[in-house]
Amino acid sequence: MNSRLTARDRLIVALDTPSVDEARLIVKRLEGSVTFYKIGLELAMKGGIDLAQELIAAGSRVFLDMKFLDIENTVERAVASLAGCGISFLTVHGMDSKTLRAAAKGASASDLKILAVTVLTNLSESDLAEQGIKSDCIAELVIHRARLAQRAGCHGIVCSGHEAAAVRAATSPDFLIVTPGIRLDDDKVGDQVRVATPQTASRNGASYIVVGRPITQSEDIKAAAEKFLEIIARN
Ligand code: C5P
Repeated sequence: MNSRLTARDRLIVALDTPSVDEARLIVKRLEGSVTFYKIGLELAMKGGIDLAQELIAAGSRVFLDMKFLDIENTVERAVASLAGCGISFLTVHGMDSKTLRAAAKGASASDLKILAVTVLTNLSESDLAEQGIKSDCIAELVIHRARLAQRAGCHGIVCSGHEAAAVRAATSPDFLIVTPGIRLDDDKVGDQVRVATPQTASRNGASYIVVGRPITQSEDIKAAAEKFLEIIARN
């Protein structure tokens, strides 16, 4: 879809491990194949932010998936603390303009790109109903939040691969659409709900494809990553 980026640029591997040593082992095994890693809450609590610096110094790109949600002053200052240290992407929850604007402001003096998480890919319509959100069409809520994020000055959003086409149509060609919840037909779904194949996500206009367990928990990590790269390159 994104003609300027190669499959290797577009695949982001989620390093959801309990220690930096385990994350380093995965990175070592993916050497030569993967150049973009996501560090999430689990690893961030165990030295992941220092590991991010190590990966960046070695030439990789890093997506820090912190999913911030707090009052504006706190969000802006937390984002500003991370801006300028070489991290490429950072997430905030994308439910309200106050959080989104604060995050965009915190990153404004840097190259850091702010991504708004629209609706987590493990949530279904009944999970939203539990939150008091009456939505019988998750895609509409995702589009609404994507527009909020763009208006607030964020650089992109996170959504499922199924929603990427509608988000692309509602935003602009340069708006970043990052899709986790990616599974091949035979992969275990785990706790994800709105899963999509890399083919679907890519054809729907996703800029970046995030894959965690289907790569990191496979018997042959390198071969699994190569398979995803090949599919992304073909779609
Ligand atoms: O292992 P799996 O491929 O399900 O990992 C997906 C990764 O993407 C996890 O690190 C998860 O926290 C993250 N993520 C997600 N859904 C979102 C935002 C981030 O699954 N909406």
